[in-house]
Amino acid sequence: MSAPATYDAVIVGSGPNGLAAAVELARNGKRVAVLEGKSTIGGGARSAEITLPGFVHDLGSAIHPLGYASPFFRSLPLDEHGLEWVHPDVPLAHPLDGGEATVLERSLEATAAGLGPDAAAYRRLMGPGSADASSIAGFFVGKPSLIRHPLALAFSGIRALGDAEGVARSVFEGERARGLFAGNAAHSFLPLDQPPSALFGLLLGTLGHAFGWPFPRGGSQSLANALASYLESMGGEIFTGAPVSTVDDVPRARAVLFDVTPRQLHDIAGEHFTEGYNKALKRYRYGPGVFKVDFALDGPIPWQAEECLRAGTVHLGGTLEEISAGEAAVAGGEHPERPFILLAQQSLFDDTRAPEGKHTVWAYCHVPNGSTFDMTERIEAQIERFAPGFRERILARSISGPAELEGQNANLVGGDVAGGYMDLRQLLARPMLRPNPYSTPARGLYICSSSTPPGGSVHGLCGFLAARTVLRRLGKMRHDRTPR
Ligand SMILES: Cc1cc2nc3c(=O)[nH]c(=O)nc-3n(C[C@H](O)[C@H](O)[C@H](O)COP(=O)(O)OP(=O)(O)OC[C@H]3O[C@@H](n4cnc5c(N)ncnc54)[C@H](O)[C@@H]3O)c2cc1C
Repeated sequence: MSAPATYDAVIVGSGPNGLAAAVELARNGKRVAVLEGKSTIGGGARSAEITLPGFVHDLGSAIHPLGYASPFFRSLPLDEHGLEWVHPDVPLAHPLDGGEATVLERSLEATAAGLGPDAAAYRRLMGPGSADASSIAGFFVGKPSLIRHPLALAFSGIRALGDAEGVARSVFEGERARGLFAGNAAHSFLPLDQPPSALFGLLLGTLGHAFGWPFPRGGSQSLANALASYLESMGGEIFTGAPVSTVDDVPRARAVLFDVTPRQLHDIAGEHFTEGYNKALKRYRYGPGVFKVDFALDGPIPWQAEECLRAGTVHLGGTLEEISAGEAAVAGGEHPERPFILLAQQSLFDDTRAPEGKHTVWAYCHVPNGSTFDMTERIEAQIERFAPGFRERILARSISGPAELEGQNANLVGGDVAGGYMDLRQLLARPMLRPNPYSTPARGLYICSSSTPPGGSVHGLCGFLAARTVLRRLGKMRHDRTPR
């Protein structure tokens, strides 16, 4: 007879999905431990002083529309464990050459009003989703019946399955609306002429109107810390500096959930899987990588368009054509001269991030997976284009290409921060086509990372849904209520 299991479940990896899985299991009365390979918890949601003392930078995620909207996170008492969301005045600014900027306001109407001839088209495209956004969030945790306006949503839904370039050109006529949509769509890491890049343009715009694009005060680490604190308050245990190389490194447990991507899962547990499952893990495709620069500045970015100072996030890439060309170049293995940049300036709205009067900036662009090309100069030139004098404000910078990112977190394979390519096929069959994507052929072994549905970003839903699978299999759920 074998010895009794020490834990009901052990989770390997303390990213937002690993912690979410642990929390869901613990609040259903399960005895849970988390093993984190690095010395700090949080995975893609960590923050640290990586430039100068007193400047707190996000090592991974910065802005959290999906984290804030997540029906799972909303069902947890994270505010009692130190989480405070900060809402910038507006979610997003998108500067154009000539000193102007398009602004994604919280209000759909106010945003539409800034889009000139495209105001009505913008309202038609974004309106239904914005009105039904919390229901859409519920949809991702398996509650399609929550959708209140299915017909109105179908209009946007069909568009979402298309490519961003096609939707932007057919729906809008002006540069402002097209550029705004393209910038949001570029979060997909897909070339903008490939479906379903339009989905990301719709989703991020919609979330901006319905929820905003907030971030945790003190950095994304505060979200990870709040999850960990809640977990520990329920008796869950967390061990850092505990890398797992084989299943033998894991203490005895009835279930092991891996917050890792398919390539790592294959290396760690491949000997327990069928040949077919291992082949599918190896076939899993990773997306482009990220090249990231964090800046410590001696003042705010001197934006030409003052509206940019109202926004937590700024998209740099100008027109639909330019953004599209940049993303196409990356998909083709090249490094665009003028890359599309995602930039966050949290310290404008959160005084815990930098010494008084000083500021932090988080900026990255996409590069081919595994790229070793230094994009620092091109990123700075792109910021300087919309904010002349930016360079003079730089006190220090910290540079992370794909190799450095993967060194910080093994899940960032080749610099891919989304846990794998997010084209239609791999969004639907993630990590592969299986009746339950969180299970594996090995009894008791599961995958719970962003390489499972609904995919990348900090929302904890992959971990939550994996935990529900485990709870069903372990039986007897105490907290038997799907959050909404
Ligand atoms: C630069 C960057 C910018 C981003 N920007 C945003 C953003 O603004 N908004 C947003 O919502 N999302 C953003 N993301 C994406 C987001 O961070 C991820 O989608 C999210 O963190 C995925 O969570 P996860 O739990 O699946 O995996 P991860 O967060 O990657 O966590 C995996 C954890 O597992 C640990 N681990 C891996 N292998 C082992 C092992 N063998 N043994 C033990 N531990 C192991 C890792 O150390 C890590 O802690 C960004 C990511 C990066 C890197």
